[in-house]
Amino acid sequence: MDKPLSVWYCDTCGEKIDDVGKGYVIWRSEGHPHDFKVIHQRDCDQKDHTSSAALKDFLGPQGLSYCMTFLSAGPIIHNLSGSSDQPQPNLSEFADFVRRVQVPYYEQARRSFANPELLSDFSDWNEFGPYIPDELERIARDYTGGR
Ligand SMILES: [Zn+2]
Repeated sequence: MDKPLSVWYCDTCGEKIDDVGKGYVIWRSEGHPHDFKVIHQRDCDQKDHTSSAALKDFLGPQGLSYCMTFLSAGPIIHNLSGSSDQPQPNLSEFADFVRRVQVPYYEQARRSFANPELLSDFSDWNEFGPYIPDELERIARDYTGGR
């Protein structure tokens, strides 16, 4: 199995992105940030996605801090402006994206989340258990489509 947080599956062509330097994140900004996609830089760009940044910018602790700017400008700007209002991404969609770039094995397991066998096996699990890295690794290993 691929090392976690080293390989992604392109949302345009479906092929592996195994060089983080060739990965890019694109999203749409009209109204609010949305439709985040991980793609091969240039080759798989989508013209209707007007915002972009390098995939590596979203990785590690600094990347998590960058991800959070889409939810909150942070206390310094809030104190300066007197407001914490900003357009919000769709939270479920954004959580999926943040897990892809932050949680080990999420990307490998993600392609199996609609597998009927998996859905049956996890029907009585809570919202946290399946997304623990050890469990995600098992999902990626054991269910079709996660390899
Ligand atoms: Zn691609």
